[in-house]
Amino acid sequence: MKLPITEIFHSLQGEGHFVGYPMAFVRLAGCSVLDCRIRKECDEAPWKVTEHLTIDDILERVKRQSIVCLTGGEPTDHDILPLIAALRSAEHRVHMETSGVRSVDGWPLDWLTVSPKAELRQRSGHTLKLVVRPEWSRDQTKDTIEKLDSGTNFFHRYLQPMTQADGTPANLPEVVALLLDEEINRGARWALSTQAHRFWRLP
Ligand code: SF4
Repeated sequence: MKLPITEIFHSLQGEGHFVGYPMAFVRLAGCSVLDCRIRKECDEAPWKVTEHLTIDDILERVKRQSIVCLTGGEPTDHDILPLIAALRSAEHRVHMETSGVRSVDGWPLDWLTVSPKAELRQRSGHTLKLVVRPEWSRDQTKDTIEKLDSGTNFFHRYLQPMTQADGTPANLPEVVALLLDEEINRGARWALSTQAHRFWRLP
């Protein structure tokens, strides 16, 4: 079996709970989430398949890192459970980032980050990361956060501004204001995440 890969690289995690930790990133190619609200700007477009790799090929490419982060595209589009099992057998810690469009309950992951882009089916995990669109009104964002707060179960919740082409966050002041707004962020459930790797000039 071979998996379609966009890229495999080693870098520091720039987003969410593991900021600054070294890991190998395995970016699976393709994304079936056609109703994703940021699909137009998405730079991980489905056509960017660069190679097809076996599980052994992937193990060889990531072997110098303890943590392996499976991302996309939408990694759950692919049959990656054998890859996860092989990574764990090789004593890697396996993280995965998904838009949450399908359930991965029961998958043997060490860390699951869900960043909702369309209808949310995976409603639990370690990290929930909401990218706040610059054009959203305060009420629209409040409504989205309230919906995500009810009926979901995550240890950590992050609001993340959109990143501009130069790597800086487009709407950082607005997101900070949302976090400081007690009516929206009651009990300080949500914290700030940025794409720090972009301004570190790392991949
Ligand atoms: S779900 Fe993710 S990879 Fe797919 S189009 Fe949206 S942002 Fe891009």
